[in-house]
Amino acid sequence: MRILVVEDEKRISSFVRKGLEEQNFGVDVCADGNEAFLLATTQRYDAIVLDIMLPGRDGLSVLKQLRSQKHTVPVILLTARTELDDRIEGLNLGADDYLTKPFYVEELVARLQAVVRRVSGEKLSLLRAAGLEVNLITREVKRGDKPIKLTAREFSLLEYLMRSPGRVFTRTQILEHVWGYNFDPNTNLIDVHVQRLRKKISPDEKEQLIETLRGVGYRFKKT
Ligand code: CA
Repeated sequence: MRILVVEDEKRISSFVRKGLEEQNFGVDVCADGNEAFLLATTQRYDAIVLDIMLPGRDGLSVLKQLRSQKHTVPVILLTARTELDDRIEGLNLGADDYLTKPFYVEELVARLQAVVRRVSGEKLSLLRAAGLEVNLITREVKRGDKPIKLTAREFSLLEYLMRSPGRVFTRTQILEHVWGYNFDPNTNLIDVHVQRLRKKISPDEKEQLIETLRGVGYRFKKT
């Protein structure tokens, strides 16, 4: 994991660097707000530790501009004990967490691991393909801004196919995974569900997102 530490107090930045490097983080340090913004937008970091009072431009302004340009990198603000308004403003601007100085580097490490886990968890919880968005946590399905209502079974079927675009699943695999059957009920159970699901999720009849492979099974179209 690579972390950008933005802090103009040398004493703090060097103990943070040392502490993070001991935990096997890669660390870049910078002491100026303008340079921080440049680094944050040109390099890839897993998280940014951002002081508020900085030369160049302050941390809140860096954060604000990052978020306005849709940079979602997790940001932990470093604030002084007296800067309550700044903490609130920072969280409103899209900071993921904050630490009040002085702090233990162990605490910073724990916070960093938590925000990075949270962000990568969010990525895993969202499936996207062909304009379709499936949130595995809220179980909302959308095409663009338009919500799509699925039954629990349709949702499981869609999730199962959509997790592996391009991979063909046999009827037996689908029955086992979506219905929990280890036998084939010899009905058109799957076909009926696939037809219904297709109608709900496909933009039009010509563009089918779920493809039939005759005699083999079904697959979610690879885009
Ligand atoms: Ca400072």
